[in-house]
Amino acid sequence: MANNFLRKETYKPEEIFKNLPNPADYPKNFNLKKVKVDYDGDLMKMGSQRYYVFRKSLKCSHCERVGLYFAKETHLNKQGEPASPSFHFNLYAVDPDGTEVLMTKDHVLARSKGGANSLKNYVTMCEPCNSYKRSMDEEKAKELAEERQRAGILLKLGEVHG
Ligand SMILES: [Zn+2]
Repeated sequence: MANNFLRKETYKPEEIFKNLPNPADYPKNFNLKKVKVDYDGDLMKMGSQRYYVFRKSLKCSHCERVGLYFAKETHLNKQGEPASPSFHFNLYAVDPDGTEVLMTKDHVLARSKGGANSLKNYVTMCEPCNSYKRSMDEEKAKELAEERQRAGILLKLGEVHG
């Protein structure tokens, strides 16, 4: 567990997935994040998009890591106290050496390239692959900018972003 989280219980993935609200059961435009389920004394918001992404696949789209369990956690502030009274579920894989690895959701098509914040455009990715991908994207963007500069192309301000 990352030491900036306070952890309570852990749960098997199916114990979370079975309580994900089905949008078809609710009125149109209903905010699914209002749906709460009691897990050992904590009312958990079940409509988080991350959980639906993980239900599509527990496996990282870039490596062999697979999310094994959800931990009920809340962020800790700099003083080491819970920053919020509400908990959420974080999905973790475990490496052969016992290290826990946080699983995240990643855009297939980046927001900066017009990708939507929709379930279809998300895949499961472990934190190390996600941060590697981010750094590669930044490097690629930097290389491209340098290439353009070398070619003597004057960049319009609007093109520099994204
Ligand atoms: Zn990975």
